[in-house]
Amino acid sequence: PTLHVCCGGGCLASGAQDVIKAATESADKRGLNLQVVPSGCLGPCSKGPVARFDPAGILFQHLTPESVRELIQDWDDSQAEPVSRKHPARWPDAPSFLSKQRKSALRSCGRVNPERIESAVAHGAYSALTQVLAEGSGDGVIAELKESGLRGRGGAGFPTWLKWQSTMNQPASPKYVICNADEGDPGAFMDRSIIEGAPHDLIEGMALAAFTIGARQGYVYVRAEYPLAVSRLEHAIEDARQIGLLGENILGTGFGFSLEIRKGSGAFVCGEETALMNSIEGKRGEPRPRPPFPAEKGLWNSPSLLNNVETYATVPLIISQGAEKYLDFVHDGKRPEGSRGTKVFALAGAIANSGLVEVPIGTTLGELLYDIGGGMLGGREFKAAQIGGPSGGCVPKGHLNVPLDYETLNELGAIMGSGGLIVMDEETCMVDVARFFLEFVQEESCGKCAPCRVGTKRMLEILEGICAGKGRMEDIDTLVRLGEQIRETALCGLGQTAPNPVLSTIRHFRHEYEQHIRSHH
Ligand code: SF4
Repeated sequence: PTLHVCCGGGCLASGAQDVIKAATESADKRGLNLQVVPSGCLGPCSKGPVARFDPAGILFQHLTPESVRELIQDWDDSQAEPVSRKHPARWPDAPSFLSKQRKSALRSCGRVNPERIESAVAHGAYSALTQVLAEGSGDGVIAELKESGLRGRGGAGFPTWLKWQSTMNQPASPKYVICNADEGDPGAFMDRSIIEGAPHDLIEGMALAAFTIGARQGYVYVRAEYPLAVSRLEHAIEDARQIGLLGENILGTGFGFSLEIRKGSGAFVCGEETALMNSIEGKRGEPRPRPPFPAEKGLWNSPSLLNNVETYATVPLIISQGAEKYLDFVHDGKRPEGSRGTKVFALAGAIANSGLVEVPIGTTLGELLYDIGGGMLGGREFKAAQIGGPSGGCVPKGHLNVPLDYETLNELGAIMGSGGLIVMDEETCMVDVARFFLEFVQEESCGKCAPCRVGTKRMLEILEGICAGKGRMEDIDTLVRLGEQIRETALCGLGQTAPNPVLSTIRHFRHEYEQHIRSHH
């Protein structure tokens, strides 16, 4: 039996280390055959510190050194359920939180010790790499990825197999494999949690990519504000190197792949792939015009493959189990065309169970918020969810039944994005929300092109005017016109998506803008 104590950033901040110490001491004192394992994020971050007892899968919440000591004191090893159902530390909502989730990118998160490579290997890490290296060709990888329908989980949703194949087909060398871990959306912590909880799944995914496209060097571009993720990744890279899973001659096959970490300094624009590459090259983090696309001319003008953490971490599972098995992760037995597999979301805001969840694509917003998320905090009314951070848009109450997939969200003016989902209640002012996100992108605009540099500034001034009681009705149409122009003409994704929160709040909550203007006249 094992007690996995969550050591993700949130649980560590609320005292997980003390819980581990107390649990280990108490189990030793009683002579229990119980392993206490520090693990990655278990999901319900707002209930931290949390722990899960396996194999029974029982979740405990708000643990303290005292409560975990009591728990172990009451532990009865002779029972199938060694802890009473009524024990105060048991989290009663765990069954509904877990039952609709399906873990693929998060399969090892909360199940392995992220600082022990042997723990990851015992859970299947590096089996896909070993298998593909033994086959001696990456062609099978592309075929499996194509069948799986995996699309980039970082935001744009481009078919992963196509990106890999285009880079593989480039005759130039050297080639590079790059992981975008510059997670900058307010409220998002998916990538951080995967690196903190299962760094070897990311490393394996990148090594598979390198072998497939013919690269020997990779970079993980990660935010310097994620010190725990950086240190766990450094540790994991070193461990993998020590046992020959990274380096000059991986598993004696002659294939070599080295991985380095590059720390970003927190500029939101560096999450844009061409700006990210400039930053790795030591230049100012400004986007480059596309084409040429990174697959052709990327890092140091060489063919480069960029994906985010969740995408790379999913690939080894698809390869080791086969695409067919990955496609079994479906919602209500349906396989939506065009959007398949699972998606990780970070639930934040006015929701009871804020935390990290992974669901089959096609799960409805209502199921995500009410079944998994436990409903609204304090029993308030749901108003809207901002999906996809500052590049995304809001989905209002009338659309709780919409399936969360790439196409449906686009039709609603939101985007799947990287998976940040901020829940807002009836008391939230949607004009304020739009202003918050616009202010954020305005500050983060790199200033290289006028539509974004000047256009978002003008939009922000108008919004501030409306909030300060100086707005006019025609301002709303001006905001829409400016927003659409910026969307069409900005150079990079940051500018092209910057107006989205304003446009989507006007689309769904125009009356709130009108009320603001009317109430001051
Ligand atoms: Fe810079 Fe904005 Fe232009 Fe992108 S759209 S290049 S962030 S000014």
